[in-house]
Amino acid sequence: MSPEYSQIIIEQLKSDAVNKTAGELLKLVAQYLENEVVIATSFGVEDQVILDIATRNQIQLKAITLDTGRLFPETYEVWDRTEKQYNLQIKAYYPQSKDLEELVNKQGINGFRNGIDQRKACCSIRKLEPLSRALSNQRAWVCGLRQDQAITRANVEPIEWDAQFKLIKVNPLYNWSEEDVWRYVKAYDVPYNTLHDQGYPSIGCAGCTRAITKVQTLRDGRWWWESPESKECGLHNRPRV
Ligand code: SF4
Repeated sequence: MSPEYSQIIIEQLKSDAVNKTAGELLKLVAQYLENEVVIATSFGVEDQVILDIATRNQIQLKAITLDTGRLFPETYEVWDRTEKQYNLQIKAYYPQSKDLEELVNKQGINGFRNGIDQRKACCSIRKLEPLSRALSNQRAWVCGLRQDQAITRANVEPIEWDAQFKLIKVNPLYNWSEEDVWRYVKAYDVPYNTLHDQGYPSIGCAGCTRAITKVQTLRDGRWWWESPESKECGLHNRPRV
Protein backbone atom coordinates (compact mmCIF):
# COMPACT_ATOMS: atom_id res chain seq x y z
CA MET A 1 0.00 0.00 0.00
CA SER A 2 1.51 3.34 -0.99
CA PRO A 3 1.90 5.99 1.76
CA GLU A 4 -0.48 8.32 -0.15
CA TYR A 5 -3.21 5.68 -0.44
CA SER A 6 -2.69 4.66 3.20
CA GLN A 7 -3.08 8.26 4.28
CA ILE A 8 -6.46 8.51 2.53
CA ILE A 9 -7.65 5.28 4.14
CA ILE A 10 -6.38 6.37 7.56
CA GLU A 11 -8.20 9.69 7.39
CA GLN A 12 -11.44 7.91 6.40
CA LEU A 13 -10.96 5.30 9.09
CA LYS A 14 -10.17 7.88 11.76
CA SER A 15 -13.34 9.81 11.05
CA ASP A 16 -15.48 6.62 10.91
CA ALA A 17 -13.84 5.26 14.08
CA VAL A 18 -15.17 7.99 16.34
CA ASN A 19 -17.25 6.56 19.23
CA LYS A 20 -16.93 2.98 17.95
CA THR A 21 -16.63 0.07 20.36
CA ALA A 22 -13.64 -2.25 20.01
CA GLY A 23 -15.75 -4.76 18.05
CA GLU A 24 -17.17 -2.09 15.76
CA LEU A 25 -13.70 -0.72 15.14
CA LEU A 26 -12.33 -4.15 14.22
CA LYS A 27 -15.29 -4.73 11.88
CA LEU A 28 -14.78 -1.38 10.23
CA VAL A 29 -11.09 -2.01 9.62
CA ALA A 30 -11.74 -5.53 8.30
CA GLN A 31 -14.34 -4.14 5.86
CA TYR A 32 -12.09 -1.33 4.65
CA LEU A 33 -9.13 -3.61 4.17
CA GLU A 34 -10.97 -6.71 2.96
CA ASN A 35 -9.77 -8.81 5.90
CA GLU A 36 -6.11 -8.02 5.15
CA VAL A 37 -5.53 -7.45 8.86
CA VAL A 38 -3.00 -9.15 11.12
CA ILE A 39 -3.04 -9.44 14.88
CA ALA A 40 0.41 -9.88 16.39
CA THR A 41 -0.31 -11.56 19.68
CA SER A 42 2.03 -12.09 22.61
CA PHE A 43 -0.83 -13.81 24.47
CA GLY A 44 -1.08 -10.91 26.90
CA VAL A 45 -4.56 -10.42 28.29
CA GLU A 46 -5.35 -7.54 25.92
CA ASP A 47 -4.47 -9.65 22.86
CA GLN A 48 -6.66 -12.44 24.21
CA VAL A 49 -9.59 -10.03 24.57
CA ILE A 50 -9.14 -8.80 21.00
CA LEU A 51 -9.06 -12.37 19.64
CA ASP A 52 -12.26 -13.13 21.54
CA ILE A 53 -14.01 -9.98 20.29
CA ALA A 54 -12.95 -10.79 16.72
CA THR A 55 -14.22 -14.36 16.99
CA ARG A 56 -17.58 -13.32 18.46
CA ASN A 57 -18.06 -10.78 15.68
CA GLN A 58 -16.98 -13.19 12.90
CA ILE A 59 -14.10 -10.91 11.99
CA GLN A 60 -11.30 -12.69 10.19
CA LEU A 61 -7.91 -11.70 11.55
CA LYS A 62 -4.68 -13.43 10.60
CA ALA A 63 -2.98 -14.22 13.89
CA ILE A 64 0.81 -14.29 14.22
CA THR A 65 3.15 -14.51 17.17
CA LEU A 66 6.86 -14.12 17.82
CA ASP A 67 8.55 -16.98 19.60
CA THR A 68 11.69 -15.35 20.95
CA GLY A 69 12.89 -18.64 22.42
CA ARG A 70 12.83 -17.03 25.89
CA LEU A 71 9.13 -17.23 26.69
CA PHE A 72 7.66 -18.59 29.92
CA PRO A 73 6.25 -22.16 29.90
CA GLU A 74 2.89 -20.58 30.86
CA THR A 75 2.94 -18.57 27.63
CA TYR A 76 3.31 -21.74 25.55
CA GLU A 77 0.39 -23.22 27.52
CA VAL A 78 -1.93 -20.30 26.78
CA TRP A 79 -0.79 -20.31 23.12
CA ASP A 80 -1.92 -23.93 22.84
CA ARG A 81 -5.20 -23.31 24.70
CA THR A 82 -5.98 -20.28 22.53
CA GLU A 83 -5.53 -22.20 19.28
CA LYS A 84 -7.82 -24.94 20.55
CA GLN A 85 -10.51 -22.69 22.01
CA TYR A 86 -10.78 -20.46 18.94
CA ASN A 87 -9.97 -23.13 16.37
CA LEU A 88 -7.17 -20.92 15.11
CA GLN A 89 -3.75 -21.51 13.71
CA ILE A 90 -1.42 -18.84 15.00
CA LYS A 91 1.56 -18.51 12.69
CA ALA A 92 4.85 -18.46 14.58
CA TYR A 93 7.87 -16.41 13.55
CA TYR A 94 11.35 -17.18 14.88
CA PRO A 95 14.65 -15.27 15.02
CA GLN A 96 17.19 -15.93 12.27
CA SER A 97 19.37 -18.66 13.77
CA LYS A 98 22.68 -17.27 12.48
CA ASP A 99 22.04 -13.80 13.94
CA LEU A 100 20.96 -15.31 17.25
CA GLU A 101 24.00 -17.54 17.40
CA GLU A 102 26.31 -14.56 16.82
CA LEU A 103 24.50 -12.44 19.41
CA VAL A 104 24.64 -15.04 22.18
CA ASN A 105 28.26 -15.85 21.45
CA LYS A 106 29.13 -12.15 21.53
CA GLN A 107 27.23 -10.88 24.56
CA GLY A 108 26.36 -14.00 26.53
CA ILE A 109 23.11 -15.82 27.10
CA ASN A 110 21.75 -13.11 29.44
CA GLY A 111 23.81 -10.27 27.99
CA PHE A 112 20.64 -8.19 27.58
CA ARG A 113 20.98 -7.28 31.27
CA ASN A 114 24.33 -5.57 30.75
CA GLY A 115 22.99 -2.35 29.23
CA ILE A 116 20.36 -0.80 26.98
CA ASP A 117 22.42 -1.41 23.84
CA GLN A 118 22.75 -5.11 24.59
CA ARG A 119 19.05 -5.34 25.49
CA LYS A 120 18.03 -3.59 22.29
CA ALA A 121 20.30 -5.83 20.24
CA CYS A 122 18.55 -8.86 21.72
CA CYS A 123 15.05 -7.42 21.13
CA SER A 124 16.07 -6.52 17.61
CA ILE A 125 17.10 -10.07 16.70
CA ARG A 126 14.47 -11.97 18.69
CA LYS A 127 11.51 -9.64 18.06
CA LEU A 128 11.97 -6.82 15.58
CA GLU A 129 13.38 -8.74 12.65
CA PRO A 130 10.77 -11.54 12.87
CA LEU A 131 7.98 -8.97 13.20
CA SER A 132 9.26 -7.07 10.16
CA ARG A 133 8.99 -10.30 8.17
CA ALA A 134 5.53 -11.03 9.56
CA LEU A 135 4.23 -7.57 8.66
CA SER A 136 5.82 -7.22 5.25
CA ASN A 137 3.15 -6.90 2.55
CA GLN A 138 0.39 -6.52 5.15
CA ARG A 139 -1.99 -3.56 5.19
CA ALA A 140 -2.77 -3.26 8.91
CA TRP A 141 -1.90 -4.78 12.24
CA VAL A 142 -3.95 -4.91 15.38
CA CYS A 143 -2.32 -4.38 18.79
CA GLY A 144 -3.49 -4.50 22.39
CA LEU A 145 -1.97 -1.16 23.39
CA ARG A 146 -3.83 0.90 25.99
CA GLN A 147 -3.21 4.52 26.93
CA ASP A 148 -2.89 3.89 30.65
CA GLN A 149 -0.36 1.05 30.35
CA ALA A 150 2.75 3.22 30.44
CA ILE A 151 4.16 6.68 29.99
CA THR A 152 5.34 5.54 26.56
CA ARG A 153 1.73 4.72 25.55
CA ALA A 154 -0.22 7.74 26.83
CA ASN A 155 -0.93 9.03 23.31
CA VAL A 156 -2.14 5.79 21.72
CA GLU A 157 -4.99 6.40 19.24
CA PRO A 158 -7.50 3.91 17.78
CA ILE A 159 -6.09 4.29 14.26
CA GLU A 160 -2.49 5.27 13.58
CA TRP A 161 0.08 5.13 10.81
CA ASP A 162 2.95 2.91 11.86
CA ALA A 163 5.91 4.68 10.28
CA GLN A 164 8.35 2.02 11.46
CA PHE A 165 6.66 -0.93 9.75
CA LYS A 166 4.79 1.17 7.15
CA LEU A 167 1.24 -0.01 7.65
CA ILE A 168 -1.90 0.97 9.54
CA LYS A 169 -1.91 0.22 13.25
CA VAL A 170 -5.21 -0.46 14.98
CA ASN A 171 -5.55 -0.22 18.76
CA PRO A 172 -9.12 -1.31 19.58
CA LEU A 173 -8.54 -1.19 23.35
CA TYR A 174 -6.79 2.20 23.32
CA ASN A 175 -9.20 3.71 25.88
CA TRP A 176 -9.88 0.60 27.98
CA SER A 177 -8.75 0.50 31.59
CA GLU A 178 -7.18 -2.57 33.16
CA GLU A 179 -10.49 -3.13 34.98
CA ASP A 180 -12.39 -3.06 31.66
CA VAL A 181 -10.07 -5.76 30.30
CA TRP A 182 -10.51 -8.08 33.29
CA ARG A 183 -14.26 -7.50 33.38
CA TYR A 184 -14.40 -8.71 29.78
CA VAL A 185 -12.18 -11.74 30.49
CA LYS A 186 -14.41 -12.88 33.35
CA ALA A 187 -17.65 -12.18 31.49
CA TYR A 188 -16.65 -14.21 28.40
CA ASP A 189 -14.37 -16.78 30.00
CA VAL A 190 -11.41 -15.77 27.86
CA PRO A 191 -8.32 -18.01 28.25
CA TYR A 192 -5.41 -16.08 29.73
CA ASN A 193 -1.82 -16.56 30.83
CA THR A 194 -1.89 -17.89 34.41
CA LEU A 195 1.10 -15.67 35.26
CA HIS A 196 -1.39 -12.80 35.39
CA ASP A 197 -2.71 -14.41 38.60
CA GLN A 198 0.80 -14.41 40.08
CA GLY A 199 1.52 -10.67 39.91
CA TYR A 200 2.61 -10.39 36.28
CA PRO A 201 0.43 -7.74 34.56
CA SER A 202 2.69 -7.47 31.51
CA ILE A 203 4.37 -10.63 30.22
CA GLY A 204 7.28 -10.82 27.83
CA CYS A 205 10.42 -12.94 27.81
CA ALA A 206 11.13 -14.80 31.05
CA GLY A 207 14.53 -13.20 31.63
CA CYS A 208 13.12 -9.69 31.26
CA THR A 209 9.82 -9.98 33.16
CA ARG A 210 9.14 -10.28 36.85
CA ALA A 211 6.13 -10.02 39.16
CA ILE A 212 5.27 -6.64 40.66
CA THR A 213 3.98 -5.59 44.06
CA LYS A 214 0.72 -3.73 44.66
CA VAL A 215 2.49 -0.35 44.83
CA GLN A 216 4.33 -0.77 41.52
CA THR A 217 2.99 0.23 38.12
CA LEU A 218 2.08 -2.06 35.21
CA ARG A 219 5.40 -1.87 33.39
CA ASP A 220 7.61 -2.06 36.49
CA GLY A 221 7.93 -5.78 35.93
CA ARG A 222 9.50 -5.35 32.48
CA TRP A 223 13.23 -4.50 32.11
CA TRP A 224 13.21 -3.33 35.73
CA TRP A 225 16.86 -2.26 35.52
CA GLU A 226 15.99 0.46 32.96
CA SER A 227 14.27 3.87 33.30
CA PRO A 228 10.52 4.04 32.37
CA GLU A 229 11.22 6.10 29.22
CA SER A 230 13.23 3.34 27.56
CA LYS A 231 10.92 0.43 28.37
CA GLU A 232 9.80 -0.55 24.89
CA CYS A 233 11.24 -3.39 22.86
CA GLY A 234 11.10 -1.40 19.63
CA LEU A 235 7.86 -2.93 18.34
CA HIS A 236 5.84 0.08 19.45
CA ASN A 237 8.13 3.07 19.06
CA ARG A 238 6.08 6.21 19.29
CA PRO A 239 6.50 9.96 19.73
CA ARG A 240 6.45 11.26 23.31
CA VAL A 241 3.49 13.31 24.59
S1 SF4 B 1 12.60 -9.05 26.07
FE1 SF4 B 1 14.65 -9.61 26.85
S2 SF4 B 1 15.08 -11.74 26.16
FE2 SF4 B 1 13.26 -10.94 25.05
S3 SF4 B 1 14.09 -10.22 23.15
FE3 SF4 B 1 14.06 -8.43 24.51
S4 SF4 B 1 16.02 -8.39 25.60
FE4 SF4 B 1 15.83 -10.39 24.59
